[in-house]
Amino acid sequence: MASSRPVLGCIADDFTGATDLANNLVRGGMRTVQTIGVPLDAAAPVDADAIVVALKSRTISPADAVAQSLEALHWLQDQGVQQIYFKYCSTFDSTPAGNIGPVTEALMEALGTGFTIATPAFPDNGRTVFKGHLFVGDQLLSDSGMRHHPLTPMTDSNLVRVLQAQTKSPVGLLAFDTIARGEAAIRARFDELQSQGVKIAVVDAVTNDDLMVLGRALRGMPLVTAGSGVAIGLPQNWAVLAGEGAADRLPPAHGQRAIVSGSCSVATNAQVLQFRQGGGQSFAVDPLALAAGVDVVGQALAWAAPRLAGGSVLVYATAESDAVKQVQQQLGVARAGEMVEEALSDIAVGLVERGVRQLVVAGGETSGAVVRELGVRQMAIGPQIDPGVPWTAVQSPACPGETLHVALKSGNFGTPDFFTKAFAQLS
Ligand code: ADP
Repeated sequence: MASSRPVLGCIADDFTGATDLANNLVRGGMRTVQTIGVPLDAAAPVDADAIVVALKSRTISPADAVAQSLEALHWLQDQGVQQIYFKYCSTFDSTPAGNIGPVTEALMEALGTGFTIATPAFPDNGRTVFKGHLFVGDQLLSDSGMRHHPLTPMTDSNLVRVLQAQTKSPVGLLAFDTIARGEAAIRARFDELQSQGVKIAVVDAVTNDDLMVLGRALRGMPLVTAGSGVAIGLPQNWAVLAGEGAADRLPPAHGQRAIVSGSCSVATNAQVLQFRQGGGQSFAVDPLALAAGVDVVGQALAWAAPRLAGGSVLVYATAESDAVKQVQQQLGVARAGEMVEEALSDIAVGLVERGVRQLVVAGGETSGAVVRELGVRQMAIGPQIDPGVPWTAVQSPACPGETLHVALKSGNFGTPDFFTKAFAQLS
């Protein structure tokens, strides 16, 4: 495998979004490392073509989001990257007081650049932008479920307007007809918009072909801001890549197998059910027992230890929505969530200490808690199990000097047989 210095540095505003972006880059042939937050060690060089720094800056205050993003930028610049990619949600999650505009402006200023693009288009995920309007599947964003989002309700589909409300920099539009005329026309339109004083161009894209053409026109642009979709068009701009198929190679997997599931989404409930009905070994974590002070972590580990040699084990708090509501009524939503996350992350660490080296974690928040407790700082991104969920290879103080394979599945991802399919892929 070729060793190289990173050429693309990405700043993602949340954890699972970072993995989604990294997954697209790997599929495009770039060896990619994802870091959890900004690494503390400024000097240690990363051996990869692309680095994705995962922040948790989507819903914090704009000032904090700017500060974190600039810290990430400076670290990435120390790594010698040639282009910066600010990654946000494919539904452009933000409010008028949101962070996309301020972070974009701050990055432009720090990079000394007067122009960038903005587009959350990701056709493979049903996100398309037409005449500056964002569609989610067949619906305008403002008609989709996003209008009711608890933290970032989106009631305007016109991204030029949404972004303009967040920034003093003039926002313009590069529409689909220009994309259709190819790379030279796109570059000419970039120049034209700049001559009109536009600093951020919202870009239409409705197909993967649009993103591939756009990608070529982005060669040399110091800053790109986008959802994860634009990443499919960027790898073609670098000749340094390891070669097709090589980017997702991870060290060989070994050791025992376990699944820790704290997601209560419909998809995860189906996955837990299928695993159990298929005869899989499983242990249910009862949040009320946790609240009563029972040593559930100790019980789960004592249950799992003798079973690990017999195949993968599942430890889950996953429950149907009625059961979850009952628990939440008794314990409070936040307390129930925290207690379960803490127990599951302690169990995950205990399992790794007992020989697990292939670990699937279900649940976005649960994944964040487990990765934190395992002390993971970076993840090498490997092959995709299902869209948006790759295997990764990490180091953890829970298994010093050994590779731990981890797959982090956010709630609604994955087919019902995910838990068996994931391990089969490593065999
Ligand atoms: P998803 O990706 O499906 O949203 P998350 O892990 O992000 O999953 O969120 C699920 C939340 O529900 C976590 O905070 C978890 O601790 C909590 N949780 C899991 N099981 C239960 C349960 N049985 N009762 C109450 N809360 C639970």
